[in-house]
Amino acid sequence: MTTERTREERLAALREARVVLVSACLLGEACRYDGKSKGSTPVMRALEGKEVVPVCPETGAGLGIPRPAVELRGGTGEAVLAGRARAVVAATGEDRTAEFRYGAELALEAVRRFGVTVAVLKERSPSCGSHGTHVDGAVVQGRGVTAALLHSAGVIILSDEEL
Ligand code: SF4
Repeated sequence: MTTERTREERLAALREARVVLVSACLLGEACRYDGKSKGSTPVMRALEGKEVVPVCPETGAGLGIPRPAVELRGGTGEAVLAGRARAVVAATGEDRTAEFRYGAELALEAVRRFGVTVAVLKERSPSCGSHGTHVDGAVVQGRGVTAALLHSAGVIILSDEEL
């Protein structure tokens, strides 16, 4: 059972955090599916003075840059982790569920190894989205696979759009 915190509570936790896990694309890493980055000035500002643990679950799982866009089918990240939904290449339906689960496990391993309490993740990604993610061809409310796993482990998550 995990606690749902308000944005203000999560922002306060970020201010107090010593170590923060961050979606690597938000730090300017060109690791997105389209080979681009999503460098964010508000994210960089919020991380000043902190130890930063960058992760990209999808490239960490060996999916490469660039890579075909993936969406979730049948449910959000929690459903993927529970085996009730899948991650597939949107254009072809090729299954990427194992890679998405593995990428999420890598992020969780980093959380444990570096004592992470707070994560800042890219919104709407099928891995990192924390309020919205791509399911069955649309953006729906819910978490991507990595965000779901980190949330279930008690990590406090902010999206880049909340900073
Ligand atoms: S949103 Fe997450 S999985 Fe996608 S490029 Fe950024 S760090 Fe990687």
